[in-house]
Amino acid sequence: SDHHLAYPPSPDHMDWSSLYPDYVAEESQEGEAPPVKASSVADGQEIESAAQKLIKRLTQDVEVADIGCGFGGLLIALAPAMPQTLVLGLEIRVSVTQFVEDRIKALRAQSQEQKLYRNIAVLRANTMKFMPNFFRKGQLSKIFICFPDPHFKTRKHKQRIVSTTLNSEYAYVVRPGGIVYTITDVPDLHGWMVQHFDAHSSFERVSEEEQEADPCVAIMRSETEEGKKVERNSGQKHVALFRRLEDPPFD
Ligand code: SAM
Repeated sequence: SDHHLAYPPSPDHMDWSSLYPDYVAEESQEGEAPPVKASSVADGQEIESAAQKLIKRLTQDVEVADIGCGFGGLLIALAPAMPQTLVLGLEIRVSVTQFVEDRIKALRAQSQEQKLYRNIAVLRANTMKFMPNFFRKGQLSKIFICFPDPHFKTRKHKQRIVSTTLNSEYAYVVRPGGIVYTITDVPDLHGWMVQHFDAHSSFERVSEEEQEADPCVAIMRSETEEGKKVERNSGQKHVALFRRLEDPPFD
């Protein structure tokens, strides 16, 4: 259950400083940011902390999210591939999140000179809830959905991480021109994801030519733990990318 999951009431209440300490902004001398009341929402219930906390701002925003990041292989491969970008893995399992956190910490420690892996972090969260609490409208340029749980049975389909409702949340947090990347070894789930993104007015499928030219696709195919497992079992990998379209102008 989500009882122990804390969510910021809005993206402005999210303190990213402990996740990306190398990107914490120097506090400005003149107009310092006013203190923001720290509060969090757990299962719809707002918990106000007694202490007033000053949120440390970052010099730049998180722009890439890996939804259900598992053991973090994609994050670790993306870190040097997009060194100027902050990338966040979101994972619901406590022990797996902790594993990825420790893995990133160790990689950072091994890279004192080059200062690699400062731009990736992991956060425990249920991405089926409260995505817009973490990210502002249009904040993300890329979302990765790699080998999501298939939930084969029809009565379990509502648990799938791609749906009409969730796609509207992805549309909200991804900026026009941004890309949602999907990959799975389950043909039925691939069909399901394509159908739901195709049906959504905010997305269009990226052409195969453009897809194959995107360096992130090669990384996604080879670097996730699940992708490696599928490779070992000589399974098929189905890839589909969707571009976030501009919103239509209001009449
Ligand atoms: N993306 C990784 C990879 O390709 O190796 C992991 C794939 S694994 C099959 C699916 C992951 O999604 C699991 O680690 C699971 O805990 C996580 N997950 C499932 N539902 C989730 C949710 N609602 N929010 C966040 N993570 C979730």
